[in-house]
Amino acid sequence: MPTRSSGGSSTSIYSMGSEDRSVTMTESERLWESWYQAFRKLREAWPADVDVPCPNSDHGRVRISYTGDPETRIGMAIVWCAECRQGIHLSRVGIPDGADMLTFDATEEEEDAAVPPDIEILPADPAPPSDPS
Ligand SMILES: [Zn+2]
Repeated sequence: MPTRSSGGSSTSIYSMGSEDRSVTMTESERLWESWYQAFRKLREAWPADVDVPCPNSDHGRVRISYTGDPETRIGMAIVWCAECRQGIHLSRVGIPDGADMLTFDATEEEEDAAVPPDIEILPADPAPPSDPS
């Protein structure tokens, strides 16, 4: 995968061999984690409507858009900010009762209405914290 900002080669923490990744979180892991924490705050507060600031700064508030099965209320979530148009994707989440959600057969227009199509989804690396063990 090409990196967008390759200013120098000396700052890379990805070197040969296996390093202890649990000690050294990369910037992208830290950012992903703070998005995930924002998601958890919103979920824990549900159905209360709380303001969770965007992890990138305090310019915006985090929203969640769900897509899933209306029967099981299991699906995926996109956690995103309308100001900086960034967010994360969670592939398997429980969708709370009463939350707005799309179904998996939603049209592209419906999807675009829920989440703007130009949202930049941050990569989850190495794995979501909810990874079962
Ligand atoms: Zn933002």
